[in-house]
Amino acid sequence: MSEETKIVVVGAGFSGLAAAATLIKAGFQNVKILEAKERVGGRVCTTKPFTENIIELGANWIHGQKGNDLYKLAKEHDLLAEKALKDSSESSQDYFFKEGGKHLPDELADGVTSLFEKLTSKAFDRELPESYQDLTLGDYLDVSFAESSLADEEDGSRIFEWCKRNECTDEAVSSLYEVSASQESEYIARGGEFFNSLGPRGYQAILDLLLNDLPSGTILNNTAVKSIQWDKDEEEDHAVQVICENDQIFEADHVIVTVSLGVLKEHARTMFEPALPKSKLDAIDKLGFGTVDKIFLCFSERFWPEDCAGIQLTWDEGPEDKAVYSSEDEEDAWKETWFKKISGFDAVARHPKVLCGWITGREALHMETLEDSEVGDTCVRLLRSFTGWSVPDVSQVLITNWGHDPHVQGSYTFVPHHVNGVKESEALAAPLPSCSQESKPLQVLFAGEATHVNFYTTTHGAYLSGLREAERLINHYSD
Ligand SMILES: Cc1cc2nc3c(=O)[nH]c(=O)nc-3n(C[C@H](O)[C@H](O)[C@H](O)COP(=O)(O)OP(=O)(O)OC[C@H]3O[C@@H](n4cnc5c(N)ncnc54)[C@H](O)[C@@H]3O)c2cc1C
Repeated sequence: MSEETKIVVVGAGFSGLAAAATLIKAGFQNVKILEAKERVGGRVCTTKPFTENIIELGANWIHGQKGNDLYKLAKEHDLLAEKALKDSSESSQDYFFKEGGKHLPDELADGVTSLFEKLTSKAFDRELPESYQDLTLGDYLDVSFAESSLADEEDGSRIFEWCKRNECTDEAVSSLYEVSASQESEYIARGGEFFNSLGPRGYQAILDLLLNDLPSGTILNNTAVKSIQWDKDEEEDHAVQVICENDQIFEADHVIVTVSLGVLKEHARTMFEPALPKSKLDAIDKLGFGTVDKIFLCFSERFWPEDCAGIQLTWDEGPEDKAVYSSEDEEDAWKETWFKKISGFDAVARHPKVLCGWITGREALHMETLEDSEVGDTCVRLLRSFTGWSVPDVSQVLITNWGHDPHVQGSYTFVPHHVNGVKESEALAAPLPSCSQESKPLQVLFAGEATHVNFYTTTHGAYLSGLREAERLINHYSD
């Protein structure tokens, strides 16, 4: 059966590669991956733009160790860095500044960041008192911080606003007022060290492991899928036809769709024929897909101290302040101050002369429309005015473009306020046709980070979702 069975995987990101490698190992011989881009990896993109050392434009860490299959895989193949490369607690620490070159006291920064961690952990561990449960994460944090003595300290609030802005990166949101305090999802943080760095070959080394399991010719690059026609007549040999932008047509018994939630938001209504069921379209609409971008600044010389893990910027009035975020009368005013959303500039592992700025949400999308040189000049201006140090002009600027990348359309999934994450992720992951229909089973399956109820947003979630759909087919044929 498996010799005859034709399987098409749409997308060669972590989930698509994991699905195809698992199917091929199980004996399926007719597996093709159709990938829109000329490279594989999707939101994993290891490059060498500055020196012989790598820069990760997408995923950088494996989050969590215990029970994390991707961590296990990387460890088994000796692909992890010797020590975590984001270790601000030991020999280096974040430097917090306010405009005008004022370095804020480390003790105050430590106090506020620890309080912030405690408050978010309470929310993430679902330990909030009932009175807070209907609040947005932003509102819950504001109320809780106001009760703390740190709120009365000069500069306490500005560091707290920075913490909220920084948290937007983890959540992939424009603002923490978009997500719930009560975490209406089942995200599970794996135990052990949260930030696990990969060795000198970066994430590409794990992609290579999966690629080694694929016979040559399995992946067709530059082959964007335009339309998936499923539930074809009983008389047809194969239930599904996949039509590509370049007019190639592939017959298949099963198609595993792994495109990002961003791509589904843009194309799901036109990509499938017959149309997707309402439950799936609702899930695509309701789940959020936010943008997180990185701004790499390469300098001719290092100007920050050895023990500085990152230069963090605190503003008098932050874009995370609720009043600023929700002010309707100033519609596009935030575009003028998009740079206020940059949380700061972190030192980059293996690159002593490179800093990486982080920016999220609508401001990240706006930044993507600007020239690299404008972004670079703005960042240098910020670094000069906040630190007061002698900051040279930047020699190379590299900004990511995840929001406007037509084959990704954002960075990762979030669960908006009042959306039931479990219900919607499950609806997104459900194969078609549904069990109740009398058509050929498992014609269109869905993988990708957004379809994983517990590990959405992450590479290990993407990887496991690919295994899940491969195993669904393997079980189907072994029943
Ligand atoms: C800036 C950034 C930082 C991140 N940091 C981390 C991190 O540190 N740790 C972590 O665990 N996760 C991180 N992530 C998230 C992680 O990268 C993703 O969760 C994961 O890589 C998603 O894999 P995927 O297979 O689900 O989707 P994708 O990687 O998006 O793969 C989907 C593939 O489908 C292709 N495609 C799209 N449309 C079509 C079409 N029409 N036809 C054919 N092919 C198509 C795309 O080109 C892509 O290759 C980060 C992501 C970003 C953007």
